[in-house]
Amino acid sequence: TVEIRGVTKSFGALTVLDDVTLTMPAGSVTAIIGPSGSGKSTLLRTINHLERVDRGFIAIDGELIGYRREGDTLYELKEAEILTRRTEVGMVFQNFNLFPHLTVLQNVTEAPVAVRGLSRDEAERQAHDLLARVGLADKANAYPRQLSGGQQQRVAIARTLALKPKVLLFDEPTSALDPELVGEVLDVIKELARSGITLIIVTHEIGFAREVADSIVFMEQGRVVETGAPAQILTHPRHSRTAAFLAKVL
Ligand code: ATP
Ligand code: MG
Repeated sequence: TVEIRGVTKSFGALTVLDDVTLTMPAGSVTAIIGPSGSGKSTLLRTINHLERVDRGFIAIDGELIGYRREGDTLYELKEAEILTRRTEVGMVFQNFNLFPHLTVLQNVTEAPVAVRGLSRDEAERQAHDLLARVGLADKANAYPRQLSGGQQQRVAIARTLALKPKVLLFDEPTSALDPELVGEVLDVIKELARSGITLIIVTHEIGFAREVADSIVFMEQGRVVETGAPAQILTHPRHSRTAAFLAKVL
């Protein structure tokens, strides 16, 4: 379970997250939607502690992200501890972020060997299983530049899964892809949704959100405007601002 409680974050005078409180149960799929600049990426980055929060906290299965508590005070963890905890939260970016000089297999085995101390043999066995799972069993020895965008994104997903995260964050995973490549990436995410891992997905693919999400969060100007089941949010939004946003994107 991911608990986000009263999270507030500013960049200078700009409040980007304003008292955000959300709960994502273990194994659930949450889609975050909202206009550009509403704080969706920043929220994902705070879940991974790529971004510090000014107020509030985030916990995964009861463990604080990035901080430890002493009495009423939160102290930030040391870099090494942050890195260890961060492996529990995988993140897949819009632009894949693969290592260009490494093969697909090396991209997927790098972190388990370096961070988790797996033997190279073990890491490679696992990588071949993961590549099969994302439909790329035959691409292990290719370099990222030899792959389509959709294939690169599926490698990025396999690479993230190799650390066995409890929670997987996706930041617009298909928005850099040509339209005909979107489906193959969404299919992999759909399969993950059935696997019991907790997924939090920022997306503009409203149809996809309707199909796979257990709940949809609509954000605007750093605030959660409303959250609910897809059928409710998408067909009977409670707030006029949600309705206005949906009218533009649907
Ligand atoms: P988009 O749909 O365009 O990706 P978003 O909802 O993901 O938008 P964020 O990227 O979270 O929005 O940005 C929220 C606001 O915070 C924006 O106004 C952005 O300019 C600002 N912002 C984000 N990161 C920083 C930063 N490192 N320094 C200063 N301002 C930032
Ligand atoms: Mg964003």
